[in-house]
Amino acid sequence: MKIICIGRNYIDHAKELNNPIPKEPVFFLKPETALLPKRTPFFIPEFSEEIHHEIELVLRIHKPGKNISEKFASRYYNQIGIGIDFTARDIQQQCKEKGLPWEKAKAFDHSAPVSHFIPITEIKNLNNIHFRLDINGKTVQTGNSSDMIFNFDKIVSFVSHFITLKIGDLIFTGTPQGVGSVKVGDKLECFLEGVKLLSFNIK
Ligand code: MG
Repeated sequence: MKIICIGRNYIDHAKELNNPIPKEPVFFLKPETALLPKRTPFFIPEFSEEIHHEIELVLRIHKPGKNISEKFASRYYNQIGIGIDFTARDIQQQCKEKGLPWEKAKAFDHSAPVSHFIPITEIKNLNNIHFRLDINGKTVQTGNSSDMIFNFDKIVSFVSHFITLKIGDLIFTGTPQGVGSVKVGDKLECFLEGVKLLSFNIK
């Protein structure tokens, strides 16, 4: 399986990092080794001084597909969860300045904790999903799928024109504004429609 991440999919987040509003989805990959095993803390890696949290809605692909049209894209994902796209912001900044790929900053081990997944059929309106991240009991990021620049169908269709999607692939769909650093001792809790789906500690 592979993890596909969409960048800059919320206007307010693109602005907070001084990035342009994209005309088409921006995406990058994380390997399977980026998953955080269940009931495991996230250890801050020694190579970064600035690990940022990015809470994101995550789709799970359940049917292989290539060159999927937007009209049929919803047939290819049937579960949704929530995850953190951990980012070594200091390293990413260096990569951006040098025009280098982002993998060092984005694809490192355990950089993609994800919750368990719930059936899409349990979601009333996919275009109005509220989600949030609390750190130590305080809300630091809130988002709503209605604010995405590119919706789920557009993302699935777009990515599938470059990369074949396979069963079990995950798509991180972008983070809203409010990204910031995590530190040793923090407790992260991720909520989808008010229900806590993911919780782990930073060590
Ligand atoms: Mg992200």
